[in-house]
Amino acid sequence: MTNEDYSSIKQLLSSKKNIVIVPHKNPDGDAIGSSLGLYHYLKKYNHEVTVIAPNDYPDFLKWMPSETSILKYELQQEDCDTVINQADIIFTLDFNALNRIGDMETPIQSATGIKIMIDHHQQPDDYALYMYSDVSMSSTCEMVYNFICNLGDENSIDQDISTCLYTGIMTDTGSFRFPSTTSTTHKVIANLIEKGANNAQIHNNIYDTNTYSRLQLLGCALSNLKVLPEYRTAYISLSQQELNTFNFKKGDTEGFVNYGLSLEGIVFAVIFIENEQENIVKVSLRSKGAFSVNEFSRAHFNGGGHTNAAGGKSDLGLKETIEKFISILPSYKEVLNHE
Ligand code: 5GP
Ligand code: MN
Repeated sequence: MTNEDYSSIKQLLSSKKNIVIVPHKNPDGDAIGSSLGLYHYLKKYNHEVTVIAPNDYPDFLKWMPSETSILKYELQQEDCDTVINQADIIFTLDFNALNRIGDMETPIQSATGIKIMIDHHQQPDDYALYMYSDVSMSSTCEMVYNFICNLGDENSIDQDISTCLYTGIMTDTGSFRFPSTTSTTHKVIANLIEKGANNAQIHNNIYDTNTYSRLQLLGCALSNLKVLPEYRTAYISLSQQELNTFNFKKGDTEGFVNYGLSLEGIVFAVIFIENEQENIVKVSLRSKGAFSVNEFSRAHFNGGGHTNAAGGKSDLGLKETIEKFISILPSYKEVLNHE
């Protein structure tokens, strides 16, 4: 985004506007954190602001300031369509293509509001008038922080904004450990703490609010873990029946895939999660080093994401999906062993 773009946006925001903020489907900490961070910022200028999530999100995010104001498109489609059609400005946060918002794709595509994208995923589509896309960024939350600073408004960042932005930077960097965590990320985090983010409380709210059944489900996932040393690969599967046994709720499997990557010598980890309701197998992929799970997921599982973290899906059954996965690996043997 150029200086002129920022001037135009500043001009645009200088009078009261109807604004909609949209995170991706199955929103995570970064999607909800960036949406609510931006929401609190825009509310300071008395804009009419509505965050519309395509669908529900995990309970461990349901403490964030003004979280209860978020509309869920899957639950109140008509109301949401009205708000979308009245929007002067539509911010799309933490996704790179409109097919990442599920049933909201068509209404957002045809809406007349000015679209502003803020996102750090690879290969962004060209649907927004203003595009702040940077794949080197740790998180969309860090980008929203930059966005506010570039509008010359760093001083307006308060405790609510800080709390939301801290949360998304923390979750998308695996608590500040992934390679996308730069010294600048740490400086931003330091500023957010100074501006009121209660870091210990936020870590507790996200990571130490497990239910007993979630830990039991983790036990099940870990006992299903398979290792393929010749490909430096590990994978986990969870069937719908296993999910049902342990009372699965949205978000319960968040982070499970990383256990595969914590094994010594493993550079590629995948989790396959059966979803009978959507009749798909959801695939989450993680890697270390140069092996791109974004490319792998685009090529084989109709997905995408980042070099080291991506997602996708399969229309095959759970067993067939895993067989397909195993049959693909030999063509990646060399690259996986060069990490
Ligand atoms: P997760 O595995 O945690 O669901 O997602 C990892 C990363 O990949 C996130 O940045 C997420 O936005 C992206 N991602 C997850 N699922 C999909 C998908 O189906 N398609 C695309 N393009 N990206 C995805
Ligand atoms: Mn993100």
